[in-house]
Amino acid sequence: MYLSKSDYLMGLNCVKALWLKKNRKEIMPEYDEATLASFNIGNQVQDLARGFYKDGIMVEAESWDVENGSLLTKELSLKHNVLFEAFAKLSNGCFCRIDILAKNSNAWDMIEIKSSTGVKDYYLDDLAFQKYVFENAGYPIKRCKVLHLNSNYVRHGKLDIKKLFAEDDVTEAVIQRQSEVEMYVKGMLSYQSMPDEPEVKLHCGCSDCPFYGYCGKDVPEYSIFNLLHAAKADEFYNTTNSCDIHDLPLAYCTTDKQLIDRDCFLNNKIHVEKENIKEWLRGLKYPLYYLDYETVMPAIPMFDNTSPYSQVPFQFSLHIQKTPQGELEHIEFLHQERSDPRRFLAEALVKSCGKKGSVVVYNQQFEKTRNKELADLFPDLKADILAINERVVDQLVPFRNRYLYSPKQKSSASIKYVLPAFSDLSYKGMDIANGGDAMSKYLAFLEGFQTADESKKMFDDLLKYCGQDTFAMVVLMDVLYKWAEK
Ligand code: SF4
Repeated sequence: MYLSKSDYLMGLNCVKALWLKKNRKEIMPEYDEATLASFNIGNQVQDLARGFYKDGIMVEAESWDVENGSLLTKELSLKHNVLFEAFAKLSNGCFCRIDILAKNSNAWDMIEIKSSTGVKDYYLDDLAFQKYVFENAGYPIKRCKVLHLNSNYVRHGKLDIKKLFAEDDVTEAVIQRQSEVEMYVKGMLSYQSMPDEPEVKLHCGCSDCPFYGYCGKDVPEYSIFNLLHAAKADEFYNTTNSCDIHDLPLAYCTTDKQLIDRDCFLNNKIHVEKENIKEWLRGLKYPLYYLDYETVMPAIPMFDNTSPYSQVPFQFSLHIQKTPQGELEHIEFLHQERSDPRRFLAEALVKSCGKKGSVVVYNQQFEKTRNKELADLFPDLKADILAINERVVDQLVPFRNRYLYSPKQKSSASIKYVLPAFSDLSYKGMDIANGGDAMSKYLAFLEGFQTADESKKMFDDLLKYCGQDTFAMVVLMDVLYKWAEK
């Protein structure tokens, strides 16, 4: 059986996941849109990063064709100094590709291209496995490097590839992990061909695993993994084999919030702190402007004065309410051209937000930071935009602080949980139903990957989605008034 680099990383995380991947492939879920979008970003970054190494030659072989890819790599390595997507394989079944293999006197440097803006710990495991495979396949490795996007780069005019990327030499850290690779490989090769599924206990990190739907099928919708901090939840599950909150002793809940959440769940009741809600409501100044942004985060900066993964706001929704529970006015902005939306959005925002009244947002950090960025970018609008920030009131506060809590929230104060807990309003059935979808679809539009009809439909979906986000805040404001008076 083969062991690829991604198998190795999966095995390091959990041997059961590796076994399932090799023996129960049919239960592995299809990639979701977010994962496919991240592959797309990775490919774009790879294409650009290769420009960093001139005169490289691509090893043209299908990724599954390890045999031919390895032979071709051997052949090309005799004539060329830089190879892209080089293959290597070992007789024990290990194989991998390296993004760039570059000659360094009588040895080679390996360069792994990443679309992140820094070196993550697991990249070192990536490279340790690749070094093990390539060295044992006859390519002595001198240096190991990670070529990643440079977060300090700010685009001005044409993309400057040399400045867009930063290269970190991680050779020493990779060498430190090298001694373990052979041992892990041996273990994984024997594990993956075992007849029976290995027994591994669920833990907090499992929710990110593609096999969570299979391993976690008996975990209740609301469990200790939602309620407790990771280490405590794992400790309880390991000692009791239960993740049911009914089995959880009080002593495991060490914060006020956990005590409230547990009590509400066990007694199926709503927790309300009327005085705190009233005091929070007294801080509101009418008219209220309920504001929400949608943003896009291109990995490769598309516009001047942006860096890799800069948040570029392209849409806002604004519901205006002059009196408590009064009539609503709705203003919306959506940039529908393939150009930098920020100046248009900033002007529309200043024009729409008036001069008085609270600006209600959900999780203020996000909107306030976008406003600060817009203010820095447009000095002529700075005072007006910063004045909007001064008026911001965060509707997350009463829910995060448990002034009002329903067990349906499942220990979360995210609006996606709070809204259905207190109203019939939901995002179910919407073609754009979360910020991630909005972001990836708008990015596809900016990159020119949509037809005119697709874009038209997407604009409609975006307007519905962002409008619902601010209408949700209006609904939750009514909920707060209602519970304050109950
Ligand atoms: S869900 Fe957890 S236990 Fe199951 S395979 Fe994934 S990491 Fe391992």
